[in-house]
Amino acid sequence: MASPDMMKPLLRNSVEVEQALSELKCPTVGILGSGDFARSLATRLVSSGFRVVVGSRNPKRSASLFPPGAEVATQQEAAGQADVVFVAVFREHYSTLCDLKEALAGKVLVDVSNDTEPSLRLQSNAEHLGSLFPECTVVKGFNVISAWALQSGPRDGNRQVLICSDSREAKSSVSHLARSMGFIPVDMGPLSSAKEIESIPLRLFPSWKTPVLCSLGLFCFFYGYNFIRGVIHPFVTKGQNSFYKIPVEIVNVSLPCVAYVMLSLVYVPGILAAFLQLRHGTKYRRFPGWLDRWLQQRKQIGLLSFLSAALHAVYSLCLPMRKSARYHLLNDAFKQVKAGQESAWVEEEVWRMEIYLSFGILALAVLSLLAITSLPSVGNSLNWREFSFIQSNLGYTALLIATLHTLTFGWKKAFNPAQYKFYLPPTYALALVVPCAVLLCRTYLLLPCVNARLTKIRRGWERGRLTRFQLPEEMGHCNVNSAQEDVSNV
Ligand code: NAP
Repeated sequence: MASPDMMKPLLRNSVEVEQALSELKCPTVGILGSGDFARSLATRLVSSGFRVVVGSRNPKRSASLFPPGAEVATQQEAAGQADVVFVAVFREHYSTLCDLKEALAGKVLVDVSNDTEPSLRLQSNAEHLGSLFPECTVVKGFNVISAWALQSGPRDGNRQVLICSDSREAKSSVSHLARSMGFIPVDMGPLSSAKEIESIPLRLFPSWKTPVLCSLGLFCFFYGYNFIRGVIHPFVTKGQNSFYKIPVEIVNVSLPCVAYVMLSLVYVPGILAAFLQLRHGTKYRRFPGWLDRWLQQRKQIGLLSFLSAALHAVYSLCLPMRKSARYHLLNDAFKQVKAGQESAWVEEEVWRMEIYLSFGILALAVLSLLAITSLPSVGNSLNWREFSFIQSNLGYTALLIATLHTLTFGWKKAFNPAQYKFYLPPTYALALVVPCAVLLCRTYLLLPCVNARLTKIRRGWERGRLTRFQLPEEMGHCNVNSAQEDVSNV
Protein backbone atom coordinates (compact mmCIF):
# COMPACT_ATOMS: atom_id res chain seq x y z
CA MET A 1 0.00 0.00 0.00
CA ALA A 2 1.37 3.45 -0.87
CA SER A 3 2.16 5.87 1.96
CA PRO A 4 0.35 9.24 2.15
CA ASP A 5 3.68 10.94 1.34
CA MET A 6 3.93 8.98 -1.87
CA MET A 7 0.30 9.85 -2.72
CA LYS A 8 0.87 13.62 -2.40
CA PRO A 9 2.65 14.39 -5.71
CA LEU A 10 0.33 11.98 -7.53
CA LEU A 11 -2.74 13.68 -6.03
CA ARG A 12 -1.40 17.14 -6.83
CA ASN A 13 -0.73 16.03 -10.40
CA SER A 14 -4.23 14.65 -10.89
CA VAL A 15 -5.76 17.85 -9.52
CA GLU A 16 -3.62 19.83 -11.89
CA VAL A 17 -4.55 17.58 -14.80
CA GLU A 18 -8.22 17.87 -13.87
CA GLN A 19 -7.91 21.64 -13.69
CA ALA A 20 -6.12 21.73 -17.02
CA LEU A 21 -8.79 19.50 -18.58
CA SER A 22 -11.61 21.64 -17.20
CA GLU A 23 -9.76 24.73 -18.49
CA LEU A 24 -9.76 23.16 -21.93
CA LYS A 25 -13.46 22.32 -21.67
CA CYS A 26 -14.57 25.66 -20.20
CA PRO A 27 -12.07 28.45 -20.80
CA THR A 28 -11.68 31.14 -18.15
CA VAL A 29 -12.96 34.62 -18.88
CA GLY A 30 -12.08 37.57 -16.68
CA ILE A 31 -14.30 40.56 -15.93
CA LEU A 32 -13.01 43.73 -14.29
CA GLY A 33 -15.79 45.54 -12.42
CA SER A 34 -18.78 44.23 -10.51
CA GLY A 35 -21.53 46.55 -11.74
CA ASP A 36 -24.75 45.87 -13.68
CA PHE A 37 -23.00 44.95 -16.93
CA ALA A 38 -20.44 42.71 -15.21
CA ARG A 39 -23.22 40.82 -13.36
CA SER A 40 -25.27 40.21 -16.51
CA LEU A 41 -22.19 39.23 -18.52
CA ALA A 42 -21.03 36.82 -15.78
CA THR A 43 -24.49 35.20 -15.63
CA ARG A 44 -24.54 34.75 -19.41
CA LEU A 45 -20.97 33.42 -19.58
CA VAL A 46 -21.55 30.93 -16.75
CA SER A 47 -24.73 29.62 -18.38
CA SER A 48 -22.83 29.30 -21.69
CA GLY A 49 -20.27 27.03 -20.03
CA PHE A 50 -17.39 29.41 -19.28
CA ARG A 51 -15.45 29.70 -16.06
CA VAL A 52 -15.72 33.31 -14.92
CA VAL A 53 -13.43 35.26 -12.59
CA VAL A 54 -14.68 38.70 -11.62
CA GLY A 55 -12.13 41.26 -10.46
CA SER A 56 -13.54 43.67 -7.90
CA ARG A 57 -11.94 46.31 -5.69
CA ASN A 58 -14.02 44.81 -2.89
CA PRO A 59 -14.61 41.11 -3.64
CA LYS A 60 -16.20 40.33 -0.25
CA ARG A 61 -18.93 42.91 -0.78
CA SER A 62 -19.56 42.01 -4.42
CA ALA A 63 -19.46 38.17 -4.18
CA SER A 64 -23.12 37.79 -3.11
CA LEU A 65 -24.29 39.72 -6.22
CA PHE A 66 -22.93 37.12 -8.66
CA PRO A 67 -24.27 33.71 -9.68
CA PRO A 68 -22.74 30.73 -7.82
CA GLY A 69 -20.71 29.65 -10.88
CA ALA A 70 -18.74 32.91 -11.00
CA GLU A 71 -15.69 33.40 -8.80
CA VAL A 72 -15.28 36.89 -7.36
CA ALA A 73 -11.68 37.78 -6.63
CA THR A 74 -9.38 40.79 -6.50
CA GLN A 75 -8.63 42.65 -9.71
CA GLN A 76 -5.05 41.24 -9.68
CA GLU A 77 -6.29 37.65 -9.38
CA ALA A 78 -8.89 38.04 -12.14
CA ALA A 79 -6.39 39.70 -14.48
CA GLY A 80 -3.88 36.90 -13.89
CA GLN A 81 -6.25 33.96 -14.47
CA ALA A 82 -7.82 34.72 -17.84
CA ASP A 83 -6.56 35.33 -21.36
CA VAL A 84 -9.62 37.35 -22.33
CA VAL A 85 -10.58 40.05 -19.85
CA PHE A 86 -13.72 42.22 -20.16
CA VAL A 87 -13.24 45.75 -18.85
CA ALA A 88 -16.69 46.55 -17.43
CA VAL A 89 -15.79 49.89 -15.84
CA PHE A 90 -16.37 53.43 -17.10
CA ARG A 91 -13.70 55.20 -19.16
CA GLU A 92 -12.94 57.72 -16.42
CA HIS A 93 -11.83 54.84 -14.15
CA TYR A 94 -9.47 53.16 -16.66
CA SER A 95 -6.45 54.91 -15.15
CA THR A 96 -7.20 53.27 -11.76
CA LEU A 97 -6.53 49.88 -13.42
CA CYS A 98 -2.93 50.79 -14.33
CA ASP A 99 -1.56 48.68 -11.45
CA LEU A 100 -2.74 45.62 -13.41
CA LYS A 101 -0.42 46.36 -16.36
CA GLU A 102 1.92 43.51 -15.58
CA ALA A 103 -0.84 40.94 -14.93
CA LEU A 104 -2.65 41.94 -18.12
CA ALA A 105 0.38 42.05 -20.43
CA GLY A 106 -0.14 39.98 -23.60
CA LYS A 107 -3.86 39.47 -22.93
CA VAL A 108 -6.98 40.45 -24.84
CA LEU A 109 -8.92 43.32 -23.25
CA VAL A 110 -12.55 43.71 -24.32
CA ASP A 111 -13.72 47.29 -23.99
CA VAL A 112 -17.51 47.31 -23.47
CA SER A 113 -17.84 50.97 -22.57
CA ASN A 114 -20.24 53.54 -23.97
CA ASP A 115 -20.31 57.28 -23.74
CA THR A 116 -23.13 58.60 -21.60
CA GLU A 117 -23.40 61.71 -23.79
CA PRO A 118 -21.96 62.77 -27.17
CA SER A 119 -18.28 63.57 -26.61
CA LEU A 120 -15.90 65.76 -28.56
CA ARG A 121 -12.93 63.53 -27.67
CA LEU A 122 -10.93 62.46 -30.71
CA GLN A 123 -9.83 59.16 -29.15
CA SER A 124 -12.43 56.45 -28.61
CA ASN A 125 -12.67 54.74 -25.21
CA ALA A 126 -11.15 51.57 -26.70
CA GLU A 127 -8.20 53.46 -28.20
CA HIS A 128 -7.71 55.23 -24.87
CA LEU A 129 -7.64 51.83 -23.12
CA GLY A 130 -5.14 50.60 -25.72
CA SER A 131 -2.88 53.60 -25.05
CA LEU A 132 -2.95 52.85 -21.28
CA PHE A 133 -2.20 49.15 -21.87
CA PRO A 134 0.15 49.03 -24.87
CA GLU A 135 1.12 45.42 -24.16
CA CYS A 136 -2.49 44.23 -24.45
CA THR A 137 -4.64 43.70 -27.50
CA VAL A 138 -7.83 45.70 -27.26
CA VAL A 139 -11.11 44.57 -28.83
CA LYS A 140 -14.15 46.84 -28.84
CA GLY A 141 -17.38 44.94 -28.47
CA PHE A 142 -20.61 44.14 -26.62
CA ASN A 143 -21.31 47.83 -25.92
CA VAL A 144 -24.44 47.78 -28.10
CA ILE A 145 -25.88 44.98 -25.94
CA SER A 146 -27.60 46.18 -22.78
CA ALA A 147 -27.18 44.49 -19.41
CA TRP A 148 -30.86 43.54 -19.68
CA ALA A 149 -30.37 41.86 -23.10
CA LEU A 150 -27.36 39.98 -21.75
CA GLN A 151 -29.31 38.67 -18.78
CA SER A 152 -32.55 37.82 -20.57
CA GLY A 153 -30.66 36.10 -23.35
CA PRO A 154 -30.28 36.92 -27.02
CA ARG A 155 -33.77 35.63 -27.87
CA ASP A 156 -35.48 38.72 -26.47
CA GLY A 157 -33.08 41.44 -27.51
CA ASN A 158 -30.68 42.60 -30.15
CA ARG A 159 -28.56 39.64 -31.29
CA GLN A 160 -25.79 41.48 -33.12
CA VAL A 161 -22.51 42.19 -31.36
CA LEU A 162 -20.37 44.69 -33.23
CA ILE A 163 -16.67 43.94 -32.82
CA CYS A 164 -13.55 45.77 -33.97
CA SER A 165 -9.83 45.36 -33.30
CA ASP A 166 -6.47 45.65 -35.01
CA SER A 167 -5.75 41.97 -34.24
CA ARG A 168 -7.44 39.21 -36.26
CA GLU A 169 -6.77 36.53 -33.63
CA ALA A 170 -8.19 38.65 -30.79
CA LYS A 171 -11.27 39.42 -32.88
CA SER A 172 -11.77 35.78 -33.67
CA SER A 173 -11.55 34.67 -30.01
CA VAL A 174 -14.02 37.38 -28.92
CA SER A 175 -16.29 36.44 -31.84
CA HIS A 176 -16.17 32.83 -30.68
CA LEU A 177 -17.16 33.97 -27.17
CA ALA A 178 -20.07 35.99 -28.58
CA ARG A 179 -21.25 33.06 -30.68
CA SER A 180 -21.06 30.70 -27.68
CA MET A 181 -23.36 33.08 -25.79
CA GLY A 182 -25.88 33.02 -28.66
CA PHE A 183 -25.01 36.37 -30.21
CA ILE A 184 -24.04 37.13 -33.80
CA PRO A 185 -20.63 38.84 -34.04
CA VAL A 186 -20.30 41.46 -36.76
CA ASP A 187 -16.75 42.41 -37.78
CA MET A 188 -16.53 46.18 -38.00
CA GLY A 189 -12.86 46.29 -38.99
CA PRO A 190 -9.93 47.94 -37.19
CA LEU A 191 -9.98 49.56 -33.75
CA SER A 192 -10.40 52.98 -35.38
CA SER A 193 -14.08 52.00 -35.93
CA ALA A 194 -14.57 52.00 -32.14
CA LYS A 195 -15.66 55.66 -32.10
CA GLU A 196 -18.52 54.84 -34.46
CA ILE A 197 -19.54 51.73 -32.48
CA GLU A 198 -19.47 53.70 -29.23
CA SER A 199 -21.79 56.34 -30.65
CA ILE A 200 -24.48 53.79 -31.67
CA PRO A 201 -26.19 53.49 -28.24
CA LEU A 202 -26.47 57.31 -28.08
CA ARG A 203 -28.54 57.45 -31.24
CA LEU A 204 -32.28 57.96 -30.90
CA PHE A 205 -34.09 56.51 -33.93
CA PRO A 206 -31.84 58.35 -36.43
CA SER A 207 -33.57 56.91 -39.50
CA TRP A 208 -37.00 57.96 -38.19
CA LYS A 209 -36.23 61.63 -37.50
CA THR A 210 -36.82 63.06 -40.99
CA PRO A 211 -39.85 60.83 -41.84
CA VAL A 212 -41.51 61.68 -38.48
CA LEU A 213 -40.83 65.41 -38.94
CA CYS A 214 -42.13 65.19 -42.49
CA SER A 215 -45.37 63.46 -41.47
CA LEU A 216 -45.86 65.89 -38.55
CA GLY A 217 -45.24 68.82 -40.92
CA LEU A 218 -47.77 67.45 -43.41
CA PHE A 219 -50.29 66.84 -40.62
CA CYS A 220 -49.90 70.41 -39.31
CA PHE A 221 -50.28 71.80 -42.83
CA PHE A 222 -53.43 69.79 -43.66
CA TYR A 223 -54.89 70.32 -40.19
CA GLY A 224 -54.41 74.11 -40.49
CA TYR A 225 -55.84 74.07 -44.02
CA ASN A 226 -58.92 72.06 -42.98
CA PHE A 227 -59.34 74.19 -39.85
CA ILE A 228 -59.51 77.36 -41.96
CA ARG A 229 -61.95 75.79 -44.43
CA GLY A 230 -64.09 73.80 -41.98
CA VAL A 231 -64.15 75.95 -38.84
CA ILE A 232 -62.99 79.50 -39.52
CA HIS A 233 -64.86 79.94 -42.83
CA PRO A 234 -68.36 79.04 -41.49
CA PHE A 235 -67.68 81.15 -38.39
CA VAL A 236 -66.62 84.23 -40.39
CA THR A 237 -69.18 83.98 -43.22
CA LYS A 238 -72.26 82.66 -41.34
CA GLY A 239 -71.39 83.07 -37.64
CA GLN A 240 -71.74 79.28 -37.39
CA ASN A 241 -69.99 77.60 -34.45
CA SER A 242 -68.14 74.53 -35.78
CA PHE A 243 -65.38 74.43 -33.19
CA TYR A 244 -66.61 71.02 -32.01
CA LYS A 245 -64.96 69.64 -35.18
CA ILE A 246 -61.46 70.32 -33.80
CA PRO A 247 -60.78 67.02 -31.95
CA VAL A 248 -62.24 64.46 -34.35
CA GLU A 249 -63.55 65.71 -37.67
CA ILE A 250 -60.62 67.96 -38.64
CA VAL A 251 -58.16 65.29 -37.51
CA ASN A 252 -60.00 62.67 -39.54
CA VAL A 253 -59.95 64.71 -42.76
CA SER A 254 -56.24 65.55 -42.27
CA LEU A 255 -55.02 61.99 -41.58
CA PRO A 256 -55.91 60.50 -44.99
CA CYS A 257 -54.14 63.38 -46.73
CA VAL A 258 -51.00 62.67 -44.69
CA ALA A 259 -51.27 58.91 -45.39
CA TYR A 260 -51.79 59.48 -49.10
CA VAL A 261 -49.02 62.06 -49.62
CA MET A 262 -46.58 60.04 -47.44
CA LEU A 263 -47.28 56.93 -49.51
CA SER A 264 -46.46 58.85 -52.69
CA LEU A 265 -43.26 60.16 -51.04
CA VAL A 266 -42.11 56.54 -50.75
CA TYR A 267 -41.95 56.36 -54.56
CA VAL A 268 -40.65 59.87 -55.37
CA PRO A 269 -36.94 59.09 -54.69
CA GLY A 270 -37.07 55.94 -56.87
CA ILE A 271 -38.53 57.97 -59.71
CA LEU A 272 -35.95 60.74 -59.28
CA ALA A 273 -33.20 58.11 -59.24
CA ALA A 274 -34.55 56.58 -62.47
CA PHE A 275 -34.62 60.00 -64.19
CA LEU A 276 -31.06 60.71 -63.01
CA GLN A 277 -29.88 57.35 -64.36
CA LEU A 278 -31.58 58.02 -67.70
CA ARG A 279 -30.06 61.49 -67.84
CA HIS A 280 -26.52 60.36 -67.00
CA GLY A 281 -26.82 57.15 -69.03
CA THR A 282 -25.22 55.11 -66.24
CA LYS A 283 -26.03 53.56 -62.87
CA TYR A 284 -22.45 54.03 -61.62
CA ARG A 285 -22.77 57.73 -60.84
CA ARG A 286 -23.48 58.49 -57.18
CA PHE A 287 -26.83 60.03 -56.30
CA PRO A 288 -26.77 63.29 -54.34
CA GLY A 289 -26.58 62.73 -50.55
CA TRP A 290 -30.16 63.87 -49.89
CA LEU A 291 -31.50 61.40 -52.47
CA ASP A 292 -29.42 58.59 -50.97
CA ARG A 293 -30.84 59.34 -47.51
CA TRP A 294 -34.38 59.60 -48.89
CA LEU A 295 -34.01 56.21 -50.60
CA GLN A 296 -32.85 54.68 -47.31
CA GLN A 297 -35.82 56.07 -45.37
CA ARG A 298 -38.58 54.74 -47.64
CA LYS A 299 -39.52 52.00 -45.18
CA GLN A 300 -40.05 54.50 -42.34
CA ILE A 301 -42.05 56.83 -44.62
CA GLY A 302 -44.23 53.89 -45.72
CA LEU A 303 -44.84 52.76 -42.14
CA LEU A 304 -45.86 56.28 -41.11
CA SER A 305 -48.23 56.37 -44.07
CA PHE A 306 -49.73 53.09 -42.85
CA LEU A 307 -50.06 54.49 -39.31
CA SER A 308 -51.96 57.55 -40.59
CA ALA A 309 -54.21 55.37 -42.77
CA ALA A 310 -54.96 53.01 -39.86
CA LEU A 311 -55.77 55.97 -37.59
CA HIS A 312 -58.04 57.41 -40.31
CA ALA A 313 -59.90 54.07 -40.45
CA VAL A 314 -60.40 54.02 -36.65
CA TYR A 315 -61.52 57.69 -36.56
CA SER A 316 -63.94 57.06 -39.45
CA LEU A 317 -65.48 54.07 -37.68
CA CYS A 318 -66.02 56.22 -34.59
CA LEU A 319 -67.68 59.13 -36.45
CA PRO A 320 -71.29 57.88 -36.03
CA MET A 321 -70.74 57.37 -32.27
CA ARG A 322 -70.39 61.11 -31.67
CA LYS A 323 -73.23 63.12 -30.13
CA SER A 324 -72.82 65.76 -32.88
CA ALA A 325 -73.43 63.11 -35.56
CA ARG A 326 -76.60 61.93 -33.79
CA TYR A 327 -77.92 65.50 -33.41
CA HIS A 328 -77.22 66.21 -37.09
CA LEU A 329 -79.06 63.03 -38.07
CA LEU A 330 -82.09 63.94 -35.91
CA ASN A 331 -82.12 67.54 -37.17
CA ASP A 332 -81.97 66.40 -40.79
CA ALA A 333 -84.80 63.91 -40.18
CA PHE A 334 -86.87 66.63 -38.51
CA LYS A 335 -86.26 69.05 -41.41
CA GLN A 336 -87.25 66.32 -43.85
CA VAL A 337 -90.51 65.61 -41.98
CA LYS A 338 -91.25 69.34 -41.79
CA ALA A 339 -90.66 69.69 -45.52
CA GLY A 340 -92.94 66.69 -46.15
CA GLN A 341 -90.16 64.83 -47.94
CA GLU A 342 -90.60 61.06 -47.77
CA SER A 343 -87.20 59.86 -49.01
CA ALA A 344 -83.77 61.50 -48.91
CA TRP A 345 -82.23 58.80 -51.13
CA VAL A 346 -79.85 60.20 -53.77
CA GLU A 347 -78.77 57.37 -56.05
CA GLU A 348 -75.51 59.06 -57.18
CA GLU A 349 -74.46 59.84 -53.60
CA VAL A 350 -75.21 56.27 -52.51
CA TRP A 351 -73.02 54.80 -55.26
CA ARG A 352 -70.25 57.32 -54.71
CA MET A 353 -70.04 56.45 -51.02
CA GLU A 354 -70.22 52.67 -51.59
CA ILE A 355 -67.36 52.88 -54.12
CA TYR A 356 -65.13 55.22 -52.15
CA LEU A 357 -65.53 53.17 -48.96
CA SER A 358 -64.66 50.01 -50.84
CA PHE A 359 -61.53 51.63 -52.35
CA GLY A 360 -60.55 52.89 -48.89
CA ILE A 361 -60.80 49.42 -47.35
CA LEU A 362 -58.83 47.89 -50.23
CA ALA A 363 -56.09 50.55 -50.00
CA LEU A 364 -55.75 49.91 -46.24
CA ALA A 365 -55.58 46.14 -46.83
CA VAL A 366 -52.75 46.48 -49.40
CA LEU A 367 -50.94 48.98 -47.14
CA SER A 368 -51.20 46.48 -44.25
CA LEU A 369 -49.62 43.83 -46.45
CA LEU A 370 -46.77 46.22 -47.28
CA ALA A 371 -46.27 47.05 -43.61
CA ILE A 372 -46.21 43.37 -42.62
CA THR A 373 -43.65 42.46 -45.29
CA SER A 374 -41.41 45.29 -44.13
CA LEU A 375 -40.96 43.45 -40.80
CA PRO A 376 -37.47 41.87 -40.88
CA SER A 377 -38.78 38.43 -39.80
CA VAL A 378 -41.32 38.37 -42.67
CA GLY A 379 -39.06 40.10 -45.21
CA ASN A 380 -36.29 37.56 -44.53
CA SER A 381 -38.60 34.70 -45.49
CA LEU A 382 -39.11 36.19 -48.97
CA ASN A 383 -36.63 36.04 -51.80
CA TRP A 384 -35.48 39.28 -53.41
CA ARG A 385 -37.96 38.98 -56.32
CA GLU A 386 -40.92 38.38 -53.99
CA PHE A 387 -39.88 41.27 -51.74
CA SER A 388 -39.45 43.77 -54.59
CA PHE A 389 -42.71 42.57 -56.20
CA ILE A 390 -44.60 43.33 -52.98
CA GLN A 391 -42.83 46.57 -52.14
CA SER A 392 -42.87 48.00 -55.68
CA ASN A 393 -45.87 46.55 -57.56
CA LEU A 394 -48.19 46.25 -54.58
CA GLY A 395 -47.00 49.64 -53.34
CA TYR A 396 -48.00 51.30 -56.60
CA THR A 397 -51.28 49.35 -56.49
CA ALA A 398 -51.95 50.82 -53.03
CA LEU A 399 -51.17 54.30 -54.38
CA LEU A 400 -53.51 53.78 -57.33
CA ILE A 401 -56.36 52.49 -55.14
CA ALA A 402 -55.81 55.36 -52.69
CA THR A 403 -56.04 57.77 -55.66
CA LEU A 404 -59.34 56.20 -56.72
CA HIS A 405 -60.55 56.43 -53.09
CA THR A 406 -59.66 60.14 -53.02
CA LEU A 407 -61.20 60.85 -56.43
CA THR A 408 -64.48 59.13 -55.59
CA PHE A 409 -64.53 60.94 -52.25
CA GLY A 410 -64.06 64.33 -53.95
CA TRP A 411 -66.23 63.48 -56.98
CA LYS A 412 -67.36 66.81 -58.54
CA LYS A 413 -66.46 69.02 -55.59
CA ALA A 414 -63.47 70.52 -57.42
CA PHE A 415 -65.86 71.92 -60.05
CA ASN A 416 -68.23 73.48 -57.53
CA PRO A 417 -67.35 77.17 -56.85
CA ALA A 418 -69.00 76.95 -53.38
CA GLN A 419 -66.23 74.52 -52.37
CA TYR A 420 -63.54 77.21 -52.81
CA LYS A 421 -63.79 78.62 -49.31
CA PHE A 422 -61.62 81.74 -48.97
CA TYR A 423 -60.61 80.84 -52.58
CA LEU A 424 -58.92 77.71 -51.20
CA PRO A 425 -59.44 74.55 -53.30
CA PRO A 426 -60.93 71.46 -51.57
CA THR A 427 -58.34 69.58 -49.50
CA TYR A 428 -58.62 66.39 -51.53
CA ALA A 429 -57.63 68.29 -54.71
CA LEU A 430 -54.50 69.52 -52.94
CA ALA A 431 -53.64 66.04 -51.66
CA LEU A 432 -53.89 64.63 -55.19
CA VAL A 433 -51.02 66.74 -56.62
CA VAL A 434 -47.94 64.73 -55.57
CA PRO A 435 -49.45 61.22 -55.87
CA CYS A 436 -50.84 61.96 -59.35
CA ALA A 437 -47.45 63.34 -60.44
CA VAL A 438 -45.83 60.12 -59.13
CA LEU A 439 -48.30 57.92 -61.00
CA LEU A 440 -47.81 59.91 -64.23
CA CYS A 441 -43.99 59.67 -63.96
CA ARG A 442 -44.27 55.95 -63.24
CA THR A 443 -46.44 55.50 -66.34
CA TYR A 444 -43.84 57.38 -68.39
CA LEU A 445 -41.05 55.15 -67.03
CA LEU A 446 -43.09 52.08 -67.97
CA LEU A 447 -43.33 53.14 -71.64
CA PRO A 448 -41.52 50.35 -73.55
CA CYS A 449 -38.82 52.60 -75.06
CA VAL A 450 -38.03 54.28 -71.70
CA ASN A 451 -38.29 51.07 -69.70
CA ALA A 452 -35.96 49.20 -72.08
CA ARG A 453 -33.30 51.90 -71.75
CA LEU A 454 -33.62 52.02 -67.96
CA THR A 455 -33.40 48.23 -67.69
CA LYS A 456 -30.26 48.28 -69.85
CA ILE A 457 -28.68 50.95 -67.63
CA ARG A 458 -29.58 49.00 -64.49
CA ARG A 459 -27.90 45.90 -65.94
CA GLY A 460 -24.63 47.81 -66.23
CA TRP A 461 -24.85 49.43 -69.66
CA GLU A 462 -23.19 52.84 -69.87
CA ARG A 463 -23.75 55.40 -72.57
CA GLY A 464 -20.07 56.17 -73.23
CA ARG A 465 -18.77 52.64 -72.80
CA LEU A 466 -21.23 50.96 -75.11
CA THR A 467 -20.33 53.36 -77.91
CA ARG A 468 -16.68 52.47 -77.34
CA PHE A 469 -17.44 48.78 -77.89
CA GLN A 470 -19.97 49.24 -80.66
CA LEU A 471 -18.32 51.84 -82.83
CA PRO A 472 -15.71 49.58 -84.45
CA GLU A 473 -18.42 47.06 -85.35
CA GLU A 474 -20.85 49.67 -86.54
CA MET A 475 -18.21 51.49 -88.55
CA GLY A 476 -16.89 48.24 -89.93
CA HIS A 477 -13.41 49.08 -91.21
CA CYS A 478 -12.82 52.02 -88.86
CA ASN A 479 -9.58 51.71 -86.84
CA VAL A 480 -9.55 51.72 -83.03
CA ASN A 481 -7.93 55.11 -82.64
CA SER A 482 -10.48 56.96 -84.70
CA ALA A 483 -13.28 55.06 -82.88
CA GLN A 484 -11.85 56.20 -79.53
CA GLU A 485 -11.70 59.73 -80.82
CA ASP A 486 -15.37 59.48 -81.71
CA VAL A 487 -16.22 58.16 -78.22
CA SER A 488 -14.48 61.04 -76.53
CA ASN A 489 -16.72 63.37 -78.48
CA VAL A 490 -19.95 61.56 -77.42
P1 NAP B 1 -21.67 50.23 -12.89
O1 NAP B 1 -22.86 49.45 -12.47
O2 NAP B 1 -21.51 51.60 -12.32
O3 NAP B 1 -20.35 49.40 -12.59
C1 NAP B 1 -19.08 49.94 -12.80
C2 NAP B 1 -18.10 49.09 -12.00
O4 NAP B 1 -16.80 49.58 -12.23
C3 NAP B 1 -18.31 49.18 -10.51
O5 NAP B 1 -19.21 48.25 -10.05
C4 NAP B 1 -16.89 48.95 -9.97
O6 NAP B 1 -16.77 47.61 -9.52
C5 NAP B 1 -15.97 49.11 -11.16
N1 NAP B 1 -14.88 50.06 -10.92
C6 NAP B 1 -13.57 49.80 -11.11
N2 NAP B 1 -12.82 50.86 -10.80
C7 NAP B 1 -13.67 51.81 -10.36
C8 NAP B 1 -13.50 53.12 -9.89
N3 NAP B 1 -12.29 53.68 -9.77
N4 NAP B 1 -14.59 53.83 -9.52
C9 NAP B 1 -15.83 53.30 -9.63
N5 NAP B 1 -16.05 52.05 -10.09
C10 NAP B 1 -14.99 51.31 -10.45
O7 NAP B 1 -21.67 50.37 -14.47
P2 NAP B 1 -22.20 49.33 -15.56
O8 NAP B 1 -23.57 49.68 -15.94
O9 NAP B 1 -21.91 47.95 -15.14
O10 NAP B 1 -21.28 49.71 -16.80
C11 NAP B 1 -19.92 49.29 -16.85
C12 NAP B 1 -19.40 49.53 -18.25
O11 NAP B 1 -20.21 48.78 -19.16
C13 NAP B 1 -19.49 50.97 -18.69
O12 NAP B 1 -18.37 51.33 -19.44
C14 NAP B 1 -20.72 51.01 -19.57
O13 NAP B 1 -20.65 52.01 -20.57
C15 NAP B 1 -20.68 49.63 -20.19
N6 NAP B 1 -22.01 49.17 -20.64
C16 NAP B 1 -23.04 49.08 -19.76
C17 NAP B 1 -24.27 48.63 -20.21
C18 NAP B 1 -25.44 48.49 -19.27
O14 NAP B 1 -26.54 48.14 -19.73
N7 NAP B 1 -25.29 48.73 -18.00
C19 NAP B 1 -24.46 48.28 -21.56
C20 NAP B 1 -23.37 48.38 -22.43
C21 NAP B 1 -22.15 48.81 -21.95
P3 NAP B 1 -15.94 47.27 -8.18
O15 NAP B 1 -16.41 48.25 -7.15
O16 NAP B 1 -16.30 45.87 -7.84
O17 NAP B 1 -14.49 47.43 -8.52
